[in-house]
Amino acid sequence: MQKVYFKTFGCRTNQFDTQVMMSKLKDYELSQDELSSDYIVVNSCTVTNGADSSVRNYISSMKRKNPNAKVILAGCGSHSKGESLFEDKKVFGVIGHSEKENINAVLKNEQPFYQIGDLEHIDTTIVEEFVGKSRAFIKIQEGCDFACSYCIIPQVRGAARSHKEETILEQISKLASNGFGEFILTGTNVGSYGRDHHTSMAKLLKKMSQIRGVRRIRIGSLEPIQIDDEFMELLSEPWMAKQLHIALQHTSDKMLEVMNRRNTYATDLELFNKIASKGYALGTDFIVGHPGEDEKEWGIAMNRVKELPLTHVHAFSYSKRDNTASATMKPEIRGNIAKERHRELTAIIKAKNYAFRREHHSSLEVLLESGKEGVYQGFDQYFNKVTVKSDEDLSSNWVFLNNVEVTDVGNETKV
Ligand code: SF4
Repeated sequence: MQKVYFKTFGCRTNQFDTQVMMSKLKDYELSQDELSSDYIVVNSCTVTNGADSSVRNYISSMKRKNPNAKVILAGCGSHSKGESLFEDKKVFGVIGHSEKENINAVLKNEQPFYQIGDLEHIDTTIVEEFVGKSRAFIKIQEGCDFACSYCIIPQVRGAARSHKEETILEQISKLASNGFGEFILTGTNVGSYGRDHHTSMAKLLKKMSQIRGVRRIRIGSLEPIQIDDEFMELLSEPWMAKQLHIALQHTSDKMLEVMNRRNTYATDLELFNKIASKGYALGTDFIVGHPGEDEKEWGIAMNRVKELPLTHVHAFSYSKRDNTASATMKPEIRGNIAKERHRELTAIIKAKNYAFRREHHSSLEVLLESGKEGVYQGFDQYFNKVTVKSDEDLSSNWVFLNNVEVTDVGNETKV
């Protein structure tokens, strides 16, 4: 049997997509060794110019190290760089997102191929990924309808489209009856789920919560404008994780406008205060060093970050992506300044998180992952990591903790 090796670049969505392809391989053997494989499928990322270079370098190195292998380009890079790599004969074949479920047939091509497909398709395979034995990530939608200036994603993943509700619920029922208790909903723009099927995230959540065994639900990320009254009403439900990740990307209105975002600081602040008053921890994404982020705007932004009830942050340093509006914007921010700003932002949120944990050190519901030598780790309902030491085997167990020890680096206890 011929061997196929998958190389995945980029985000969790790409990792899911690799799993879709792997699950569809029927006539080939899955290989763990790229150097002895007959095919190398590169599931590429194109989110920044740097990501493109990494993919290109990997392809060149494989051509040197395993010249007999057929290299197939898949993933987001197929839609941005596929044509040129194919024309330059750097790869044997190119497939777009819609073709990945046909991977078994595609590999049978004896002639070089360029099958880019379309960006309207949604896979019928819903992929779950498991952490330990009781947490599962479920991809519920694909694509994005926003047009943020710095982002190439809508061009390479297409418009937002949702998986079918019945399929999602069926999958969750199966997993719940196999002992999974926590579900994390993910996708390219998760909060847009349902719009194309005349339903909503809130309706899906309610239905999920009625499935026996579903104990806690998290949502990967939401956009502020996607939070409606129907969703707000669910905030006091016991099965909702008490942390939401809401992507703001910036807190200066000038920068939000430059980035073509749909949120504004005044409405973000009101929303965050409302959610925090219901006992929630709040995380966000923040892009540091986007062109135009001068000292004044940065100063405004940081004062506002201090004002917001934030407890977690994913801070990204801006990185240029050709063919986006931001790529030609001026003035650019020097790398060392962006680095310093990144540090400043993460230090502010770290201090806020510490203060939050000092106030929330009891009644913690933690789902532990598998441990080693009596040390287990898991997340509480606020998405804070807790380390638990125990002589008992607590792998994949839910534990209820009071008075955990809170330090600046994390929460800890012994049971
Ligand atoms: S919401 Fe904006 S940043 Fe996120 S995928 Fe869509 S366009 Fe990109």
